Amino acid sequence: MENKSIWNKYLKEKQKVLDKDLEYDVLIIGGGISGVLTAYNLNNTNLKVALVERNTLLSGITSKMTAKVTPLQDILTKIKENELDLYLKSQIDGLKILKNNIKNSNIECDFLNSPSYLFTTKQSNIKKLKKIEEYLDQNKIKYEESILEIPGIDSKLAIKSDFYTINPIKYLNKIIDLSTNIDFYEHTNVLEVIKDKIYIVKTDKYIIKAKKLVFATNYPYFLKPLFFPIKVRLEKSYMGYGKTNLEDKSFNAINIDKEIYSLRFYKDKLLYLNPSRMIANHVNDTKCFEKMTSNKLINKYENIWSNLDLITNDYLPIVGEVFKNMYILTGYNTWGILSSHVASKMIASMILKQKKYIKYAELFRPRKRINLKKIGNSTYNIYENINGFIKGIITKNKLIFYSKDHAMYVDKDGSCYLVKRKCPHLKCNLLFNEIEKTWDCPCHGSRFDLSGNVITGPSKYDIKVD
Ligand SMILES: Cc1cc2nc3c(=O)[nH]c(=O)nc-3n(C[C@H](O)[C@H](O)[C@H](O)COP(=O)(O)OP(=O)(O)OC[C@H]3O[C@@H](n4cnc5c(N)ncnc54)[C@H](O)[C@@H]3O)c2cc1C
Repeated sequence: MENKSIWNKYLKEKQKVLDKDLEYDVLIIGGGISGVLTAYNLNNTNLKVALVERNTLLSGITSKMTAKVTPLQDILTKIKENELDLYLKSQIDGLKILKNNIKNSNIECDFLNSPSYLFTTKQSNIKKLKKIEEYLDQNKIKYEESILEIPGIDSKLAIKSDFYTINPIKYLNKIIDLSTNIDFYEHTNVLEVIKDKIYIVKTDKYIIKAKKLVFATNYPYFLKPLFFPIKVRLEKSYMGYGKTNLEDKSFNAINIDKEIYSLRFYKDKLLYLNPSRMIANHVNDTKCFEKMTSNKLINKYENIWSNLDLITNDYLPIVGEVFKNMYILTGYNTWGILSSHVASKMIASMILKQKKYIKYAELFRPRKRINLKKIGNSTYNIYENINGFIKGIITKNKLIFYSKDHAMYVDKDGSCYLVKRKCPHLKCNLLFNEIEKTWDCPCHGSRFDLSGNVITGPSKYDIKVD
């Protein structure tokens, strides 16, 4: 069994590394779906554009998603009613952009039409599904009322509509290939941004000056004065892939209940996701993986992995200009494919001073008001962070050693991996994720490989021992 995402094998490492100081009109920081699509949208302009990625392109959250494509997620379950119409339009626009990109360049990316079920396992949520049906009727979106029969999942009612699944890395690899006028730099970590007449971006290697900056780093950690930590939180989920006895392998499904089940198929095998957790809530990754693999929908697990995404308090993306000539796109609430297509078009429009897709600017504005009702949620986050911190101190395992400042993992061959114990971001104690063999921050989601290289999250620095 491999402890990594099924999309990993499609990742390509092929871009250059920054080897001198440079100057650009636009610099995009972060090479996930958000950054890559923004680059693509600026490809045929007269702007000199670069994208820097601290690891390899697409290797962040984007390479670990389930990759279902539907505009109906979160409809009437999370998005407020007065924001729903515009949100739905944005998702339908996202789908149109995605389809056009695939069609215009004939991109082979296993983009498949698939019956998509939205279901509930709770009698008490049937009403909610009925309300969604009413909304779909009003918006003339085709669906059928249905029952989803999956052993072990007690579906009470389901809405069946017609949407898609995709191989996100195959698709985005082609988008990168098509962006021939963009300079992509891999293994280039941005450490500091200084605002002068233009932006001065210090990387671990050289300096890049840029007139405009786009933050596509997922966690908005460079933007401190905007109070993001109390407007967003991170949620972690666990996924598995392998052969299944389910006969129908053509559908995808997700429920609207608190405990989420999400299913899709890829190459006749099942990709299954088990309940999402708020990041610091369940720091014991091993137990979470055990819970997921105890589900017998998959006969033999070939891959297991975890992933986390930014959840905003209002469940709407964060997209727009935060300071003069500085833009951000993130906060997709685990539904990044369609939102990032719209968001990247919006950012390109703003940079090019065009009006296209600007109708969503108010809905997705980064300077969201702090919702007082959600402060409780944020307090809970803070409690959870502390909780994660304490659990960090008391966790014991014979192959994992924690001291005040260092942590060490000894593998079964006796090789030792010594790293610094504290996350460079905000000094939380790191925990060892035994399944994926990574050092994970229980507070804000930074992750480091065995040797201490940062792989994801807000930390800008590695945890290697000098
Ligand atoms: C469990 C799970 C399942 C999901 N399933 C779906 C799904 O079915 N459908 C769907 O539409 N969406 C899904 N999503 C959501 C989707 O995966 C994300 O919203 C999306 O991939 C986020 O993309 P991103 O570009 O913002 O982040 P990332 O892909 O993480 O890209 C950010 C990049 O920035 C780089 N970076 C960070 N800091 C720096 C720095 N200082 N210098 C240089 N580079 C830096 C990182 O290395 C990273 O590569 C899912 C999410 C999760 C967690």
